[in-house]
Amino acid sequence: MLKGKVAVVTGASRGIGREVALTLAGYGATVIVNYCGSKEKAEAVVEEITQAGGKAKAYQADVSEFDVAKEMLTSVKKEFGSIDILVNNAGITKDNLILKMSEEEFDKVIEVNLKGAFNCMKHVSRIMLKQRSGHIINMSSVSGVIGNAGQVNYCASKAGIIGMTKALARELGSRGITVNAVAPGFIETEMTDVLPEEVKESILNTIPLKRIGQTKDIAETVAFLSSDKAAYITGQTIGVDGGMGM
Ligand code: NAP
Repeated sequence: MLKGKVAVVTGASRGIGREVALTLAGYGATVIVNYCGSKEKAEAVVEEITQAGGKAKAYQADVSEFDVAKEMLTSVKKEFGSIDILVNNAGITKDNLILKMSEEEFDKVIEVNLKGAFNCMKHVSRIMLKQRSGHIINMSSVSGVIGNAGQVNYCASKAGIIGMTKALARELGSRGITVNAVAPGFIETEMTDVLPEEVKESILNTIPLKRIGQTKDIAETVAFLSSDKAAYITGQTIGVDGGMGM
């Protein structure tokens, strides 16, 4: 489905990004496994892809740094010839109720989740515009759609992702480039493992499908949006949340 395509997946060392990288590679794409600090984990993802007969390369870059993001995308383009798919998945949480939330906690989450996605979209747009093709998929969250107490910073970043997705879809549409977002619900990863059992239980009660999501649920949706099967879909935010956000 993605044979001959080059994909950059940010935050692909762990969790959802890792699964997205493995899935896109499984469909034939060459995958750039971006990470920030987890070098060994990113290299393990590359190893898994290579062992399975695919092509991948790990790339360290803090996406919240404008010039660092630029350097990553321009060097990938130089080495691999094109960038057909960008998945802006890198994200962090720094939860606190607003009375306790520090300015630093607010700024850091916006810097990584929202500005990081902007940085990569900005630099890949030039490349995709010249190619007259490309698919950008941004990781939002059900929290950005319905809100979540204790996550003013995170919800702002994820709602911002939805707005940026729509704006860029309108800017790039005439050149055949699609820009979409995926809004996962409650997915089993290191990000959610840290939550207390009683919180997990109460979240489960709000999910119509009555199960916690798996990274594969998200990765298959991203793969679809990265492919020509989704050629007429742009500016959308697809909830993959077991019905939690409706
Ligand atoms: P995770 O397990 O905590 O993994 C986060 C990934 O982001 C890691 O690969 C990490 O790299 C990378 N990262 C963090 N800061 C970065 C930076 N400045 N530059 C580059 N990479 C950076 O998270 P996850 O649960 O898989 O979540 C992935 C995405 O899905 C996030 O955007 C998250 O908000 C969204 N999401 C998750 C859920 C959920 O239930 N899990 C629900 C809705 C949305 P290092 O390992 O190198 O630090």
